[in-house]
Amino acid sequence: MTFNQRTALVTGAGRGIGKAIAEVLARQGVTVICVSKSESSCGAVAQAILAAGGKAKAVAVDVADGAAVTKASQDLLTEFGKIDILVNNAGITRDGLLARMSEDDWNTVIQTNLTSCFHWTKAIGWPMCRARYGRIVNVASVVGLVGNAGQANYAAAKGGMVAFTKSIAKEFARRNVTANVVAPGFIKTDMTATLGEEVQKAAQGMIPMQRFGEAADIAHMVAFLCSEEASYITGQVFTVDGGMAM
Ligand code: NAP
Repeated sequence: MTFNQRTALVTGAGRGIGKAIAEVLARQGVTVICVSKSESSCGAVAQAILAAGGKAKAVAVDVADGAAVTKASQDLLTEFGKIDILVNNAGITRDGLLARMSEDDWNTVIQTNLTSCFHWTKAIGWPMCRARYGRIVNVASVVGLVGNAGQANYAAAKGGMVAFTKSIAKEFARRNVTANVVAPGFIKTDMTATLGEEVQKAAQGMIPMQRFGEAADIAHMVAFLCSEEASYITGQVFTVDGGMAM
């Protein structure tokens, strides 16, 4: 994959899938701005990249806070001059059947998983358009494509990310900025570690490959979509799920 010394911003880079994305991009010579909620997690990832000879910076930002995202984007654009790659990966779950789902559970998930994409893309996507180069990858979920009982808030946010991505792909295409979605199935991270043993067993039964994926499985697909070689791919959704949603 070719990257030509690009600069990337990856949200949720402190753990799990985002950490793997940051590491894979850094290994390709990309300067990676690692964003997470807590300073300690993105800081540790950036430190590890630097220790391995890569280029990285850690920034703690609550992606659910639109004003904080806008301010951080402006500061980073001033510091780096440009951001060529944006990966909206930060996400949370607040699961529960609809009858028991609070408005707070709904709003928090929509704000963190979906509205954050609006703020980051607005702040960083337009400078990409002006520079006539950009790659945006949004990490959604197969749940956003097929739905899931107990995850109405999460599914709505992830489905919203798909529609949002296709819309901005159409807006930005003329300016050589691509936007795509990667939709993971069950991946081994802290997010799925909280699922009970029974739920994990049942989930495995729905996966033709009969196992959960690794964070690196998602990272490699994201990295490809961020590379020069993916220049003619936009507005697409790529499921990486061991065949679960086919
Ligand atoms: P994870 O292990 O729980 O890590 C989530 C990351 O997002 C952490 O670095 C966390 O920051 C960050 N984050 C959460 N809320 C944030 C906020 N308000 N502001 C800034 N950063 C925030 O999750 P994961 O499993 O890697 O999931 C990554 C993405 O893939 C999510 O969007 C998730 O919905 C999606 N996904 C995951 C799976 C799966 O099976 N794991 C399946 C489908 C889709 P801290 O480190 O500071 O806490």
